Amino acid sequence: MNAPIHENTDSPVELDSYTEELLEKLYSSIDEPTVPDEELQKEVASLFEIAIDSELTAPIVALFAKLLEIRESNTATPGSFGVSLEQLVQLADKHQQIDEHMVSLGGRLTRALPIANTANNRVQEYLDQKDSVAPSGIELWDQIKENQAKIKRELKMSDDDWNSFSGQIRFAVDSVETLAKLIDLPADVLESIARVTQSYRMRLTPYYTSLIMPGVINDPIMLQSVPTGEMIENAGVEIPPVAADHSPARLIDQFYPRVLTIKATNMCAMYCTHCLRLAHIGRKDHVYGKDAYNEALEYIRNNKRVRDVLVTGGDAFLLPNSLLEWLLGELDSIEHIKVKRLGTRIPVTAPMRVDAELLDILEKSNDKKPIRVVTQINTPQEITPVSREVFKQISKRTFTVLNQAVLLKGINDSRVKMWKLCETIHESYVRPYYLFNCSYRNPQFSHFRVPLEVGRDLIESMYGNISGDAIPRYIATAGGKIPLHRSNVVSNEDGNITLRKPWSGEEVSYPDADQAVYNQDTFAFRLND
Ligand SMILES: *Cc1c(COP(=O)(O)O)cnc(C)c1O
Ligand code: SF4
Repeated sequence: MNAPIHENTDSPVELDSYTEELLEKLYSSIDEPTVPDEELQKEVASLFEIAIDSELTAPIVALFAKLLEIRESNTATPGSFGVSLEQLVQLADKHQQIDEHMVSLGGRLTRALPIANTANNRVQEYLDQKDSVAPSGIELWDQIKENQAKIKRELKMSDDDWNSFSGQIRFAVDSVETLAKLIDLPADVLESIARVTQSYRMRLTPYYTSLIMPGVINDPIMLQSVPTGEMIENAGVEIPPVAADHSPARLIDQFYPRVLTIKATNMCAMYCTHCLRLAHIGRKDHVYGKDAYNEALEYIRNNKRVRDVLVTGGDAFLLPNSLLEWLLGELDSIEHIKVKRLGTRIPVTAPMRVDAELLDILEKSNDKKPIRVVTQINTPQEITPVSREVFKQISKRTFTVLNQAVLLKGINDSRVKMWKLCETIHESYVRPYYLFNCSYRNPQFSHFRVPLEVGRDLIESMYGNISGDAIPRYIATAGGKIPLHRSNVVSNEDGNITLRKPWSGEEVSYPDADQAVYNQDTFAFRLND
């Protein structure tokens, strides 16, 4: 509310209530005022002079902040420095005139700045810890390069081998003996890996192996790629894989009328220890025949409701370029298909696969109908300068890459780790899309599962603290993707809604739209029925 507090100048100055309150406080009387010492006198005089001469807002704020600090310590009012109310009113008015949005001095100094300071405290712990607790592959790049040199030496890989996808697959680490040469691991750990790999497939590309930090127990890269004894202990009763009751046609999984997936391959460059598709990734790479693809395409052609097809696997980028190009061409030729999505972890497991030819294929198909590449990054350590460059190229040629992370114990189940993951993704041309609560369907990795509420706390903690564009949706997969977010509607009484700010718990009132007005048929240009 604006009220004229000052009547005896040529044009009355209008100050808002925040500024009036501030001035009242500054001049409120003090029981035992002390005479300010000379140094303080000089300091205030100098701040005052700068504020008078300047055409900027900051010097005015600085003067008022100093005067407020002095008054709050109960020693002196501005009058003790020879500064009159009149002069401060003029300065407050000048502040508001300079500011493009006419922000008042009182509003800025007594409201906005303290609010911003409180907000800063909410992220301080994160800022202090993010680079040590959850370093990115970009920050660890020097160590990763050292690891690469050692791996190349041990495996006798040439630079060409390293830089080509075929080299990464040819030299893939699939035995405990090879792993032991590349990473120092205690004997009992090696024994356990040897035992587990009799039942579960292990394959790390040399590139992905180089992301493992030496000497780190439960390194987040190693946890995702090297199977542990728990997988056997947990095995228990198998629940039928999703496909068993959701596959209406060969290669197809369908939960929804407008979107379905083609599992175009069972191959991945690396086998994740938390793989949801464990059952059908199987034990042996399998190249599918054209018959299978044609039957899947036939199902899509005959289902005009379907508009969005997700090519997954396995990993869509494990398809040879010629096959991927053919498949995208077939999808583009179906009129009711409007969008294609490709699911791939290749940019983090074997980024060399994304060559010029593949990028051209993506761009060409994207020009016809949009392509979205969907990836899976679970820790910032998976983002290196190399994978970031791949995300940049894909984003440039198609659309911002989307990320579907899995919430995993020890890998990303703390605030610092999850915030850092989302921010690093955001800075790497990728948009956090989903965070999956790790499924119950595969008992083999129940040791990785995180309680649903922990995930809710993590997601809620991001609101107001990191960019909204970097916050994923929290999802349970249970025959379709079910959103798990917490409601921030505290109550609703006849349209008087109370909302909660997730970052501070503060409650605010939010009147709903008037239901009667909403129900009216006459509206805008339609004035009567
Ligand atoms: C994940 C998935 C989809 C896509 O879900 P969106 O929420 O649209 O990303 C569609 N079909 C199946 C079978 C899926 O697993
Ligand atoms: S990339 Fe995906 S499909 Fe392949 S093993 Fe990992 S989680 Fe499973």
